[in-house]
Amino acid sequence: MNLLSINRAFLVLRGLTLSATIVFATGVLAKEYRVESQLHYREVATKLEPGDTVILKDGVWNDFEIIFEGHGEPDLPITLRAETPGKVYITGQSNLALAGEHLLVSGLIFRDGYTPSQSVISFRKNKTALANNSRVTQTVIHNFTNPERFETDYWVAIYGKNNRFDHNHLEGKRNRGVTLAVRLDSEASQENYHRIDHNYFGPRPTLGSNGGETLRIGTSHFSRSNSFTTVENNYFDRCDGEVEIISSKSGSNVLRGNVFFESKGTLTLRHGHDNLVEENIFLGNGVAHTGGIRVINRRQTIKNNYIEGVKGYRFGGALVVMNGVPNSPINRYDGVEDSIIESNSLINSDHIQLAAGSDAERSAVPVRTSFDKNLIVQAESGADVFTVYDDISGISFNENVISGSSAPVTRGFESTTVSLVRAKNGLKYPESDDLQGAGVSPKITVVPKSETGVDWYPKPGKVQRFDSGRVVEIAPGKNTLIDGIQKAGRGGIVMLAPGDYEVGKIIVLDHAVTVRSEGDAKITFERSALFEIRDGGAIKLSGLEVSGESAPDYAGNSVIRTSRYSMLDNYEVVIEGSRFHDLDVNRFFDVIAGFKGTMADRITITDSTFSDISGAVLKLDAETDDLGIYNADYVTITGSSFSNIQGPLVALYRGGTDESTFGPHFTMTGSHVTNVGNGTKNKSGASIFLHGVQVTEIAENTLVKSAPLVINHTVGEPRTRVLKNRFDGEGYLEVEELNSQKKNTALVSGNQLLSGG
Ligand code: CA
Repeated sequence: MNLLSINRAFLVLRGLTLSATIVFATGVLAKEYRVESQLHYREVATKLEPGDTVILKDGVWNDFEIIFEGHGEPDLPITLRAETPGKVYITGQSNLALAGEHLLVSGLIFRDGYTPSQSVISFRKNKTALANNSRVTQTVIHNFTNPERFETDYWVAIYGKNNRFDHNHLEGKRNRGVTLAVRLDSEASQENYHRIDHNYFGPRPTLGSNGGETLRIGTSHFSRSNSFTTVENNYFDRCDGEVEIISSKSGSNVLRGNVFFESKGTLTLRHGHDNLVEENIFLGNGVAHTGGIRVINRRQTIKNNYIEGVKGYRFGGALVVMNGVPNSPINRYDGVEDSIIESNSLINSDHIQLAAGSDAERSAVPVRTSFDKNLIVQAESGADVFTVYDDISGISFNENVISGSSAPVTRGFESTTVSLVRAKNGLKYPESDDLQGAGVSPKITVVPKSETGVDWYPKPGKVQRFDSGRVVEIAPGKNTLIDGIQKAGRGGIVMLAPGDYEVGKIIVLDHAVTVRSEGDAKITFERSALFEIRDGGAIKLSGLEVSGESAPDYAGNSVIRTSRYSMLDNYEVVIEGSRFHDLDVNRFFDVIAGFKGTMADRITITDSTFSDISGAVLKLDAETDDLGIYNADYVTITGSSFSNIQGPLVALYRGGTDESTFGPHFTMTGSHVTNVGNGTKNKSGASIFLHGVQVTEIAENTLVKSAPLVINHTVGEPRTRVLKNRFDGEGYLEVEELNSQKKNTALVSGNQLLSGG
């Protein structure tokens, strides 16, 4: 903008507002409105002319639904900005809708609230008034999450054409709904040429259902339309919401130069043709379920992408080329045709899957597709990288280099030992010059995290949940534990001296705390729960004895339960070296109970004993609507013993048949189970009831005098391994495929039947 002069003849309007007039080179008079109230904003907003600027005064704007509408011109946009970038907080029930042409928004922070409407920032006011040629930049949306976990909204919904969303910081979406969606639901929003660049997508925790995508372009319904959206140089930091980090569901998009750091999931070309995926960097750092690129549809180009240390498998692998459905309906899978996979580096990334998903329906194999000049180096695991599920004669292979794994075909690969060196751009390349024709170009640049988002808002680092705070020592007595937990604060440790601890109130936890004893500390409690976990809460119990002997004589007590209402924050429970007993004053006394709309990231039980319990040890089956929602992501039990438990040891339920989640995961090893699950009120009839669990490992346990172990597979070839356990009866294990006609994939081996059991 070429400013000729600035007229500093400030006008004072109603004692609140200053307005300045700026004369542009073009002779246009542009006004600058400094607004201090919503009332005044609304007054100003009706009369905005090209070149005008509205400045929101620094401070907190609560319950502010901003409609920003106007018709700027290419060199004279209408601007809405913070007085000082990062000093304007939009809180409460707030949102922003843009409508018109050449609008520019910058410097706002949305936090401490949530949108009452479908989106926080929408590039439309209503179905007919869209924004075009407009830009939102230098804006933060942080934890601006609907308190109801499964109430759906978008944080950003881009409609219209030629819009830019850049240098924004979006962190911590925890309710259902895509973080940023490009909407193609009318012609006015198709072929849009939007640009989404240099944004920082901060951590998005596992949602535990479909609808946790970070970025989506289109929907299946409009997927045969072109979008022409560019997604470039963004940073995806631990975006774990669900299996798709980016879901491209439209044609002719460019996804270039983005960094995916320790993010669980893949960039998925789910629907639509003619997309270009290039120069993206995937850094898994060995984190489970980190993935790369999943290819579906026609004329896709996957070129110069760098994928290192990703551990995902099946559809979540480093590179997945899917089978399609012949004459596919719009919401299924178009086959991969006429596509190019070239000059990608796949370093220490465990799985490349070709013709993946092959089955009776998905029978269209990839055709006229080339796989050239890729570099595949497996220095660490030595396991085969490629899995081929069907005929891959439609893929041509040329000039690839592979090391530490075997090739999927006999020609088109140079099989050699490649040693790698890390170059200045942070990526690994072959040391030998002879091998540099394969893999990503040395000229590739990696966008630094610091050049994404805004520089005035901190990007989150790693958080240590437990044992990072103050240590508080407490003495036996009534309610000393309650005081200790308050004093310890976030991440604190409460150390119990030997003796009896009575607790007369429910201890509500909204922060992580460790309760520890070196021995002989016994806790009893008089209310329906000892601990109730609310948002932010997590608990680690170490070296304790917990008895239910003082609990009230009603059904439904628990030692640890979640909030009865929807929780946004995933929680964690760790139990180690502890003993739980006499939880049987009445029916359904559980150790841990998760309610609907709550999610444990992890529940870990080690070296502990549980006896005489009328309910379940782990009741994690509250999501019975079969909507693909579940209560706990990782449940791990090691070296523990369970006896005389009327309910199941664990009831873990994930209903629904969609394949949008990596979990739940269940592991039990080296544990003893005696007389578990035989209670007449145990409706699952199982000692261990796993329904829809995606990864199960049950190994080297002993189960005697107990109800059967029941594993229901619901969808998606779950990984189930039941190995080297000792059982005392026939029919100890029931594994059932509920929805698939396929052969059961469970691996059951090395188990031993005890005689006379
Ligand atoms: Ca999805």
